[in-house]
Amino acid sequence: MSVTRRQFLQLTAAGVGSTGLVALGFSPDRVLADVRNFKLSRTAETRNTCPYCSVGCGVILYTLGDRSKNAHSAVMHVEGDPDHPVNRGTLCPKGASLLDFIQSPNRLRYPEYRAPGSDKWERVTWEWALDRIARLMKDDRDKHFVAKNAAGVTVNRWPTVGMLAASASSNESGYITHKVFRAMGGVAFDNQARV
Ligand code: SF4
Repeated sequence: MSVTRRQFLQLTAAGVGSTGLVALGFSPDRVLADVRNFKLSRTAETRNTCPYCSVGCGVILYTLGDRSKNAHSAVMHVEGDPDHPVNRGTLCPKGASLLDFIQSPNRLRYPEYRAPGSDKWERVTWEWALDRIARLMKDDRDKHFVAKNAAGVTVNRWPTVGMLAASASSNESGYITHKVFRAMGGVAFDNQARV
């Protein structure tokens, strides 16, 4: 006689052990066959930080694929990091939907450039984008840097640029970002945590 998984569990809970069920003619084979493999058993774990808000919850990304050359890896599960001191494994609904964000076809994956007067964005390399940003920063700083104020006091300000840092940065990357920007004379410095 075969029973469904639900019936098997009901009978077991009612006090009839699995040995007794076999003696009564019930076969647990089908029940055992229903046991599913743990879906994360063959995944690689990567720790990261939720990018959404200033709370900065820790997340674990589970990726399928053995990371060998030419193998296509894919994130297939995201959950809160139980060892992270901020969230201790929990995520709010927004963070819990990170998998959709990662797999979204609308996600921006590379830098794009729209030339002055153009009506379309063009894909560019990271090298091109970083060189372009560095060039514009250098030109603007050379043009507007203020070494001394009207009273002759050394101020070393670069008043025509602003920096908006990421709220999910670690203490270390936040510290370095602040130091680099201030070293260039930047004054207007804020963080996405206040947005
Ligand atoms: S999981 Fe929610 S609370 Fe935590 S950083 Fe992401 S958006 Fe903020």
